[in-house]
Amino acid sequence: MRPTFAQINLAAIRHNLQQVKQTIAPGVRIIAVVKSNAYGHGAVPVSRALLEAGADSLAVALPEEGVQLREAGIQAPILVLGMFLPEQAGLYVEYDLTAAVVTERCLTALAEAARRKTSYATVMVKLDTGMGRIGIFPSQLLSFLEMIKQRKELRLAGMFTHLACADAANKDHACSQLAIFQSSVQQAREHNILLPLVSAANSATIIDLPPGHCSAVRPGIILYGLPPSHEMQQHLNLKPAMELKTRVVYVKHVPANTSVSYGYTYSTSQPTWLATLPLGYGDGYNRHLSNKAQVLIGGKRRPVVGRVCMDQIIVDIGDTCDVKIGDEAVLFGRQGAEEISIAELADLSGTISYELLCAISARVPRIYV
Ligand code: PLP
Repeated sequence: MRPTFAQINLAAIRHNLQQVKQTIAPGVRIIAVVKSNAYGHGAVPVSRALLEAGADSLAVALPEEGVQLREAGIQAPILVLGMFLPEQAGLYVEYDLTAAVVTERCLTALAEAARRKTSYATVMVKLDTGMGRIGIFPSQLLSFLEMIKQRKELRLAGMFTHLACADAANKDHACSQLAIFQSSVQQAREHNILLPLVSAANSATIIDLPPGHCSAVRPGIILYGLPPSHEMQQHLNLKPAMELKTRVVYVKHVPANTSVSYGYTYSTSQPTWLATLPLGYGDGYNRHLSNKAQVLIGGKRRPVVGRVCMDQIIVDIGDTCDVKIGDEAVLFGRQGAEEISIAELADLSGTISYELLCAISARVPRIYV
């Protein structure tokens, strides 16, 4: 087996789900977000773990991600958060996926696909309350709901919106989006339109804005044990679910002034030992970590030196060689008393934890513990 692997702790994911449950009121539904291969953790095993632990339903970004879950035998409701082309409408009907709807064209395509199968299509209206992404504007809501009503093959599951700045310390933007959403929900109710699911809350909203929980929350990043941003207070006891590990495959002694890796961005200042690890940006280890990150070997932090290559990185061990071929190296996660967090690597590479998790590539085996 390849020495490089991502270790996924499903018990941590179940624990994080329980943390969400404890934060929301009884009866609020949990739509667990497992898009992008469950943020890199593996869509099928993670979805099963989340459903067993009490998630009510799942959300993915693409219809194809929903099909993958159905083909694995998952029967829970699946909401597809993203937009689709009319020619993909048949997938929603065939695989019983709930479509996020925002155009009349897609309503027609779904209704026609449902009619062809003498079936129905479940839809959820996506409202743009200030994200500027997909979604109808509140001013279009009543006429859009009327279009849904006119197509008897469509079943309305509810309405949702997405908040752009819920993870910021200042909640003004989030609160004004929520106010717009609540008044749209109210407007629909005044017209006797039943919205079984009303949802606005991503992880940040779950943690910091209880009035935004509505009737269903959509946690993503917190299920994987990470806070949405540094700016947020941390009320939940989250456990990171993924660790990235490998083994030392090569060790050598080099003199002072030895240049290391592409572009000669690092040169040894004294005789030292260098260890090579068999992973690189082809595995999702970000190239911006070159000459910045550390890894854990033998319970100690060691600097990554020179450029991260596609398949290898080099670590400076120092003048005493306390590392041998086969030793475990932790790129992020724990080793002994030390920990390298994904947040630390995200800061060093100028991005967010979400991106680093999703970037762990398909050639990295996921090992479930
Ligand atoms: N809902 C929608 C529409 C999303 O796009 C996302 C993720 O980007 C989520 C919920 C989950 O967000 P988070 O991972 O911040 O909880």
